[in-house]
Amino acid sequence: MPSFEEARRLVLNNVAPLGSERVGLLESLGRVIAEDIVAPWNLPACDNAAMDGYAVRSADCQPPRSLRITGFVPAGAVAAAPVEAGCAIKIMTGAPIPEACDAVVPFEDAEECGDQVRIAAPGKRGQNIRFAGEDVRRDETVISAGKVIRAAETSMLVSCGKTLVTVYRKPMVAILSTGDELLEPGETLVSGKVLDSNSVSLAAGVRGCGATPVILGIARDNHASHLEKMTEGLRADVLITSAGVSAGERDLVREVLAELGMKQVFRWVDIGPGAPTCFGLKDGKPVFCLPGNPVASMITFEEFVRPALLKMMGHRRVLKPLVRAILQQEVRKKPGKVKFLRVRLESAGGKLLAYSAGDQNTGILKTMLLADALAVLPAERVSFSAGDEVEVHRISEDAELLEP
Ligand code: AMP
Ligand code: MG
Repeated sequence: MPSFEEARRLVLNNVAPLGSERVGLLESLGRVIAEDIVAPWNLPACDNAAMDGYAVRSADCQPPRSLRITGFVPAGAVAAAPVEAGCAIKIMTGAPIPEACDAVVPFEDAEECGDQVRIAAPGKRGQNIRFAGEDVRRDETVISAGKVIRAAETSMLVSCGKTLVTVYRKPMVAILSTGDELLEPGETLVSGKVLDSNSVSLAAGVRGCGATPVILGIARDNHASHLEKMTEGLRADVLITSAGVSAGERDLVREVLAELGMKQVFRWVDIGPGAPTCFGLKDGKPVFCLPGNPVASMITFEEFVRPALLKMMGHRRVLKPLVRAILQQEVRKKPGKVKFLRVRLESAGGKLLAYSAGDQNTGILKTMLLADALAVLPAERVSFSAGDEVEVHRISEDAELLEP
């Protein structure tokens, strides 16, 4: 049975970025660019005014004096003539600097009177001018392949004349629940049945990392139903199933997947919750068989599927950073397995405090709602005391950390 780290390595070593596609800039947000962007021109394209004011020759403003206004350049226009000695051209922010001018005196430092302007402060050479190429030089690489596109990158792309960009493709991720006890979401719960929450929570996880979920619904506990749904699921880029992989079950999930050509990479992992997690490949396509228990399926999604999907989407950093927190309770665990403890975080005096989010029994879903991180308790240790340092990673991005 692989350890947590081995299992995750096996998963990541067996997935690779998908191909790329051209998309519009808003569609590219949060995705990974698959090309280098080289500036086709200087930014700014020409020397231009950084403030509204007067384009002058700085030598004419030493000491400050009155200059004759000979023209006006609004943004978008170009001055008709150079700035003559002893003269000024009124200029708006962004307008190209007229010839022979080497400074812009802002309105605040000038007083206009008829066709004259009195300069109150001495103008320094180059002041309030944005120089051509001072931001970006033509032929400079402004965005390298591998970068995640945010608002700032879209701004640079537009400035470089782009409206489309090549990004890594999003995987289509088929999600299949299995079990005769399951009811479709929206049905009324009756004794002996369970609402299929995994389809939706796993789809939410898939969407949360930027991939496209395809909910296949429920495969019933018979061969034909599994075969039909799994055949459909294997048309996607990734297949995730839940339930039907624990010990003692008929284990239809692995049986039918094997029949469909899935090569198993591992089937148990030394972790809790989530030990009955199976990972395999069908013609190179990753297949994750997660445990049925909703908490275990969400945790194994987070630890194995999410990093794999991120890698397939071209991300370089696929693991959430582990940060140190101070455990606030005593915790005991079994030896030999990594334990994922659902914790609530608070920050106090520059330190993170990790409180148990509630009953850690895998059957308790509510604790998952109260948790904003998982503490990853190492396999070799069996007991932790209040005050011990543990490593945690967030499961909710927007968790607010309040100082008590
Ligand atoms: P299994 O892995 O089939 O033994 O299922 C473990 C537990 O998870 C059982 O209590 C199931 O009823 C429950 N379960 C299985 N599939 C789902 C699902 N899709 N949604 C919610 N609970 C599930
Ligand atoms: Mg079952």
